[in-house]
Amino acid sequence: MQQPLFLKPVFQEKIWGGDRLHTVFGFDLPSNKIGEDWAISAHPHGVSTVENGPFSGQKLDDLWTNHRELFGNAKGEVFPLLTKILDAEDDLSVQVHPDDTYGLIHEGELGKTECWYIIDAEPEATIIYGHNAKSREELEAMIKEERWDDLLKKVPVKKGDFFYVPSGTIHAIGKGIMILETQQSSDTTYRVYDYDRKDDQRQARELHIQQSVDVTTVPAKDAQLSIQQQNQGRSSIITYLKTPFFNVYEWQVKGVLNIKKNAPYTLATVIDGVGHLIVEEVDTVKSERYELTKGTSFILPNDIAKWRIEGELTIIASEPGVEA
Ligand code: ZN
Repeated sequence: MQQPLFLKPVFQEKIWGGDRLHTVFGFDLPSNKIGEDWAISAHPHGVSTVENGPFSGQKLDDLWTNHRELFGNAKGEVFPLLTKILDAEDDLSVQVHPDDTYGLIHEGELGKTECWYIIDAEPEATIIYGHNAKSREELEAMIKEERWDDLLKKVPVKKGDFFYVPSGTIHAIGKGIMILETQQSSDTTYRVYDYDRKDDQRQARELHIQQSVDVTTVPAKDAQLSIQQQNQGRSSIITYLKTPFFNVYEWQVKGVLNIKKNAPYTLATVIDGVGHLIVEEVDTVKSERYELTKGTSFILPNDIAKWRIEGELTIIASEPGVEA
């Protein structure tokens, strides 16, 4: 019987990171400057390891290469998705990511379209999302003249908000925000502005002005969301996004939620609550129960056609889009 793949988190230290992945999520952290938990990743900068079942100890990138049947024999050189939990104790740099065409030519990896579910936000917390330049010349001039207040659009955020951030969108996560990010498997970031910060060695982090001007969408486009909610008793499935790269859902479990797969494989991360995942064997009454707690991440491989979640939980799930 096919088992879900439970994955071990990979933590990344950042100058803007904090300790809420320990205090809020209960993870044992290697330091108190942890900005990111790479919850589900096959990216070479931090690869997930399976924690259970016949593939225990194996890396997700190796499974993608050697056991493609787990992923419905999906095409593509690399596992296309990456799920992170971010804790921004301080502001992240103002940045922009390339699309696939630019990323593959200039960086040898996919571009980066991403989206954010706001897990928590301090009162008054804001993000930067979009810009006010009307032409590429104006964008370049405003960056070089450091007219940040004129250029950058600030948006207030609160717990439960959702943002779609296609490649080419200038953005920054502000301090006091925790998010779950679903993104293409890429680590290419072009930094536009870093608040003139210095690291421990009194070094400023590198900026990438030319690349940023090249890849930014001008004028900025506001990404439209059409959020849909499907109820099952007190539980529900919320569909936030369907894009060529990924589809993203919230599974809101209050008691029980039954789910059928609609892609070759599905990624899931528990961001609140406790409960169980129940996988039923096809055509029998046999089923297997797995404990879920805050911070648990897993992949439902191709053989698992339906599953049930019991308890009181909030889970963010994703699956590959048609182009992934
Ligand atoms: Zn980003």
